[in-house]
Amino acid sequence: MAKVLINGYGSIGKRVADAVSKQKDMEVIGVTKTKPDFEAKMAVDKGYKLYAAIPERKSLFEEKGVDIEGTIFDVIEDADIVVDCAPGGIGKENLENIYKKYNVKAILQGGEKAQYVEDNFNALWSYDRCYGKDYIRTVSCNTTGLCRTLYAINSATDIVKARVVLIRRGADPNDAKRGPINAIVPNPPTIPSHHGPDVCSVVPELEGKIITSAVIVPTTLMHMHSLMVETTGTTKDDIIDAIEKTPRIFTVSAEDGLNSTATIIEFARDLGRVRYDLNEIAIWKESINVVDNEVFLMQAVHQESDVIPENVDCIRAMLQMEDDNMKSIEMTNKAMGLMK
Ligand code: NAD
Repeated sequence: MAKVLINGYGSIGKRVADAVSKQKDMEVIGVTKTKPDFEAKMAVDKGYKLYAAIPERKSLFEEKGVDIEGTIFDVIEDADIVVDCAPGGIGKENLENIYKKYNVKAILQGGEKAQYVEDNFNALWSYDRCYGKDYIRTVSCNTTGLCRTLYAINSATDIVKARVVLIRRGADPNDAKRGPINAIVPNPPTIPSHHGPDVCSVVPELEGKIITSAVIVPTTLMHMHSLMVETTGTTKDDIIDAIEKTPRIFTVSAEDGLNSTATIIEFARDLGRVRYDLNEIAIWKESINVVDNEVFLMQAVHQESDVIPENVDCIRAMLQMEDDNMKSIEMTNKAMGLMK
């Protein structure tokens, strides 16, 4: 059993903790919080051992009567790997100040820069490269969504160049600090946006071939991507077939009422998914088209949950628990109840 410590039990951390707990070959030995809020209390209620991420804050938990086992430094030496789920930028500090000092393997999240780590993870593209490594980043929600779909297209044909417009959610549903609420914001205002280079951190073969631009809109449910991918030649049927064969992406039909991110999330709710998570990328079937060897499609990405199964596979790769990425994907999917 691999012993996993989750450092930062927020939107991503609590989902990774639950996904790891469901696997047969790994267990959560603890989760950390910086403050004794409702998430900390619920973590304890769920049976997770809770530790203070910042030692000086341990007394805050005790004052509030929240059961705390100690600080991160009381548990870190028992961990085979830490999944860092702290806010963007803090993961790098934790890497330098804690993980490297304690010589423990660590996974950082997409809010960190690609160059801080040995390599960048997506289960389809870079499992083998990350196998046995010590410090890896699972890429962001947008990059994960793009990597999966580009993998499908690449399995049907050769990619000459890719152009992507990303329409990004303004805030997560639990976030009262961010916006916009009445605008569409080019973000970043420069083209290319950072998303293309981020895809290249996983797929170096696309270096110089992918250009992305992004805007932020007032919605919380999902991101949406519009892809235009020039290839050496393919057909619409081949692309649909490749999507069907690729794990963690699937087609939805506007004709069935799945005509917006709102109804796609309703679909996830009706599936009974916890926190209405849709870990798979939904591609609108009607949007898939091929014109003059150029593939067009639109997809929806559930920002809070698509990276979760990737973190589980990344643990297996880094701890050399399974050398076949497709077998790890299958194990993770089965345990989490994913469609494919
Ligand atoms: P969050 O704010 O929901 O959760 C972060 C948690 O870390 C909080 O519980 C916070 O208290 C805790 N924390 C703060 N300082 C800490 C420290 N020094 N050490 C340990 N924990 C600390 O953030 P999130 O949305 O879960 O994002 C975490 C990471 O995942 C970021 O890199 C982010 O870019 C990335 N990510 C987020 C999303 C998303 O949609 N939310 C999607 C993909 C990737």
